[in-house]
Amino acid sequence: MASPPSALHVDHVIVGAGFAGLCAAIKLQEDGETDFVVLEKGADVGGTWRDNTYPGATCDVPSQLYSFSFAAYDWPSSYSPQPDIQAYIKKVAEESGTLDRFVFDTAVEDAAWDDATQRWTVRTSGGTWVSKTLVVGAGGLSAPKLPELEGLETFQGEVFHSARWDHDVDLAGKRVAVIGTGASAIQIVPELQRTLQATGGHLDVYQRTAPWIIPRNDRTYGTLERTALRRLPGLQKLYRTGLYWAHEAYVPAFTIEPRMAAPARKVALKNIEKGIKDPQLRAKVTPDFAFGCKRVLRSNTYYPALDADNTELVTDPIVKVTGNAIVTADGVEREIDVLVVATGFYTTELPITEHLTGRTGRTLAERWRETGMAAYKGTTVPEFPNLFLLVGPNTGQGHTSMIFIIEAQVAYLRDALRRLRSEGLSSLEPTQEVTDRWNRSLQKRMGRTVWTTGGCQSWYLDAHGRNTTLWPRSTVDFRRRLASFDADAYQEVSPHEGDTVKVTQ
Ligand SMILES: Cc1cc2nc3c(=O)[nH]c(=O)nc-3n(C[C@H](O)[C@H](O)[C@H](O)COP(=O)(O)OP(=O)(O)OC[C@H]3O[C@@H](n4cnc5c(N)ncnc54)[C@H](O)[C@@H]3O)c2cc1C
Repeated sequence: MASPPSALHVDHVIVGAGFAGLCAAIKLQEDGETDFVVLEKGADVGGTWRDNTYPGATCDVPSQLYSFSFAAYDWPSSYSPQPDIQAYIKKVAEESGTLDRFVFDTAVEDAAWDDATQRWTVRTSGGTWVSKTLVVGAGGLSAPKLPELEGLETFQGEVFHSARWDHDVDLAGKRVAVIGTGASAIQIVPELQRTLQATGGHLDVYQRTAPWIIPRNDRTYGTLERTALRRLPGLQKLYRTGLYWAHEAYVPAFTIEPRMAAPARKVALKNIEKGIKDPQLRAKVTPDFAFGCKRVLRSNTYYPALDADNTELVTDPIVKVTGNAIVTADGVEREIDVLVVATGFYTTELPITEHLTGRTGRTLAERWRETGMAAYKGTTVPEFPNLFLLVGPNTGQGHTSMIFIIEAQVAYLRDALRRLRSEGLSSLEPTQEVTDRWNRSLQKRMGRTVWTTGGCQSWYLDAHGRNTTLWPRSTVDFRRRLASFDADAYQEVSPHEGDTVKVTQ
């Protein structure tokens, strides 16, 4: 792709202003790599936490762990609601001194590597940038996915995705349907149920698969505890470390021996018993697959909301949507005014990959349609020099904070940039051989995990049933493997000859 004369030249283009893009910006600046832009299609920082404003939106990981290790905060509660996390991201961004390099309302439309110039040309809705490196933090759960339902487009009422909540819609006294029972839905349902109960409205919840749900030990911090955590940074660090290891304790049950999850499964079953009186409803919400196979959710209020008089849990499959109703396989037609679609995101076919073109002229999506989503260390990809994916393939977590992973990946990125600088290189990309080896080992390990053996269908799996989203080991292991840049795994190109100067394998 030839760059227009008006193109702006920078060392690094970062895509996305969520936790990942912001972390990259802050850490690059710390290293003196200040010639970068962060291109963000939204109007603000925040990513997930800017977009998901649905009622009840809350983090599933405790606040001290779901935050940057280098930016402590005065968290009001143990599990932060969306507004608190968004406020945190904004504060960190403002205090970092990087915001002047963020370009908002600017969507990356395509980016292509030019081998002759050893540069990325990044075309956006607001101009073109040319850069040495491209850091993509476009989010793994960022592009909302609508269900393929017959007649959905004919529905005459209000319809919106959970990640694009329409706050202008007045729900008072309405008949509302929620499709989906995943992480977002189980937070939305209790809030909707309460609002609708107070106003004479009704809620239908459409469930395809019942998730495992454990209680959420959520609480607002007392004044003393909050003051201590704020005033004593060492205490907050200690607290974070304790939380980290408590979450990491889930890893063996998910990745080695699912039977180790027996105590947690018991807790989840008790949660059902406690929240629901009706035995038939209890049976409907009891999962028929191994604990951990799908993401384990946390809620104290979901089951009571399903058990309430103004809620119906519908488990018959949806056949179609009409102008004013949902029709299920048993022939029942339930009239509704508002339809909330909480059916998740594109996770294994990321939209941005259709628009990233490597040195061979293939897009990343074309490459991945052949191989499945796969990268080296979840971060770099053969044929795509100087491309760094944050929250790339097989970096996801079912049990702990994604921010830990983002920080590990950014540490690897920094080390790669140091290598480029110190050796005077113009580009590097992982060899195919080392990438294949990495993914073979990863998928072999995946075969042992509960995500493969647990008997469920989940958004972790791609169309071929391969888990290309989760990391099948501990996060300690992930961080160790990405702790320093392993030049031996890379093909490196010097600036002058444009030749490959080193291929070590
Ligand atoms: C409802 C919800 C709850 C979650 N809860 C948890 C949790 O409890 N614990 C946990 O660890 N994780 C959770 N996650 C995962 C969460 O996405 C990550 O923790 C983290 O926020 C990812 O940050 P990110 O920067 O990688 O992506 P995002 O936050 O998704 O940011 C990506 C950014 O890239 C921008 N972008 C995308 N494409 C383009 C383009 N073409 N051009 C320009 N900009 C673009 C987007 O607008 C967005 O701002 C949750 C996700 C969701 C959706």
